[in-house]
Amino acid sequence: MTTSESPSVRALRQAGYKITTPRLTILDILENCGGHITAAELLARVEARDPSIGRASVFRTLDLMIKLGILWTSVQGGSTVHYMLMPNGHHHHIICTGCQKRIEFDDCGLSALITNLEARYGVKIDGHLLELYGTCADCRTQQPAP
Ligand SMILES: [Zn+2]
Ligand SMILES: [Zn+2]
Ligand SMILES: [Zn+2]
Repeated sequence: MTTSESPSVRALRQAGYKITTPRLTILDILENCGGHITAAELLARVEARDPSIGRASVFRTLDLMIKLGILWTSVQGGSTVHYMLMPNGHHHHIICTGCQKRIEFDDCGLSALITNLEARYGVKIDGHLLELYGTCADCRTQQPAP
């Protein structure tokens, strides 16, 4: 048992779920994947870490985390589903439309907007995914404006 629980582990525990070894392994891989991971990559890493964890168990765990709102999915660059961990309820990135590079960032500054929307529509906002599109510095130097 670790002394400092990750936010994802805490979210699972607070929702009343047992922190089993497969769940911990999957969460650990998700937390150390740099933001996004495809199902194929995740399965390969789980297999490498602990071959006793089956595919069905991995997908059951992913479904559970999606249900709890700590994991979101996104389809990018075609048909590949990405899993994104968002234990704090938000996830933000910029996608370069030139090279498809993804820049992850933490601070969104949306709390005032969220408070405003909650008041205006009488809703309780639990999370958000902010995806911005643009052209990265590399692509802009390669393609000077006409
Ligand atoms: Zn992202
Ligand atoms: Zn680019
Ligand atoms: Zn945010």
